Amino acid sequence: MSSPESSSGAAAPAPTVGFVSLGCPKALTDSELILTQLRAEGYQTSKTFAGADLVIVNTCGFIDDAVKESLDTIGEALAENGRVIVTGCLGAKAGHAGGTLVQEVHPKVLAVTGPQATQEVMDAVHRHVPKPHDPFIDLVPEARAEFRGLAGIKLTPKHYAYQKISEGCNHRCTFCIIPGMRGDLVSRPIGDVLNEARALFESGVKELLVVSQDTSAYGVDVRYRTGFWDGKPVKTRLFELCEALGNLAEAHGAWVRLHYVYPYPHVDEILPLMAAGRILPYLDVPFQHAHPDVLRRMKRPASGERNLERLAAWRAACPEIVVRSTFIAGFPGETEEEFQYLLDFLHEAQIDRAGCFAYSPVEGAAANALPGQLPQALREERRARFMAVAEAVSAARLQRRIGASMQVLVDQAPALGRKGGRGRSYADAPEIDGTVRLLAPEKASKTLKVGEFTRARIVAAEGHDLVGLPI
Ligand code: SF4
Repeated sequence: MSSPESSSGAAAPAPTVGFVSLGCPKALTDSELILTQLRAEGYQTSKTFAGADLVIVNTCGFIDDAVKESLDTIGEALAENGRVIVTGCLGAKAGHAGGTLVQEVHPKVLAVTGPQATQEVMDAVHRHVPKPHDPFIDLVPEARAEFRGLAGIKLTPKHYAYQKISEGCNHRCTFCIIPGMRGDLVSRPIGDVLNEARALFESGVKELLVVSQDTSAYGVDVRYRTGFWDGKPVKTRLFELCEALGNLAEAHGAWVRLHYVYPYPHVDEILPLMAAGRILPYLDVPFQHAHPDVLRRMKRPASGERNLERLAAWRAACPEIVVRSTFIAGFPGETEEEFQYLLDFLHEAQIDRAGCFAYSPVEGAAANALPGQLPQALREERRARFMAVAEAVSAARLQRRIGASMQVLVDQAPALGRKGGRGRSYADAPEIDGTVRLLAPEKASKTLKVGEFTRARIVAAEGHDLVGLPI
């Protein structure tokens, strides 16, 4: 039976696609590309599985819990909708019989791709739900990675965005299967990255979060090739990237925050940019451990660097620098002495924000074959001991902020912040760090708006958070 619209010759309703994005910020940027392309082609997105013509699940395959969550979500989508395309890291994982793990567990999925596969995903969508023809929408330019900020869909709030500068990784850490899933390092051309950053700032982004598997290695794969941007030569290298991003951010009154930076000597070069306020004095350095023998067993990059000395030099060059890191407790063969060494490092290094995982074997990782696997209870116990020290260090460092005046980017401000709100200072990355709880402004004329900056006087610290009075 035809609807009144179709009998009058109007376009049929646009096909709808349900979308679930799991995993890390790098997976999120893949999701944004696919959603942008879907929109550019005239598909609509559906909030429910049942109401969609098909469902795309962007999966994570990093640790066993993430694999389980991804497989469960695929199962739910199959049960409620029946037509499911799978993409992302888990899609690249091989099963036992030669195909993919996803197809082994869920043979009814329509298609499976690995990460960073917008075109393959779109090809699969076209096969199962033909592309709508709309003469207006067909004029919308293709969603190109370099212009994503202009025409693209972002899954983050309007005022901050993750920007992926490279894909893959040249390291082979023994606990990690990412290189197997995402391949070796491939750096995006610097001109594309800078065009995208400019477009993001122009669209209102006030905080750009630079992500990759190994941000300090940017450009290594292309031997720091000289690219072009704005008609000028620019090297594909971390320092030049930070310098140019810093200039762009300054022109738009915005922040640039770096994630996943390994402590190589050349990272020292960007400290002056931080000290000068061009990029945030914040470094997310995934140390994972401190003891040289454990780092060797982990095959960690930059494990030979003198990390305590490096941190001291960074703090000398930029006293306000905030260091975030993640660690693994209970790695195979970790002795009590090695673990104690890690706790001492944490104390001495004064890591502002530290997260810790109890070691958990990941299917396919080389560390599974290492001798000296520790019982789960011991791994958990060490994690708890680690976190107790980490929290004490972090709390003491937060106390030192009381009385300071800080710039805060407002994330929440109901009723224009008349009763207060919540935001973050340069020391807080979204979702992984603390926040600044903003009190109601004393001046009746002062309002708070999401996505804008306010200055706040820090009046207290509570847990991982600070409390600030907008001024
Ligand atoms: S640096 Fe190590 S942990 Fe990070 S993605 Fe590469 S192999 Fe994995």
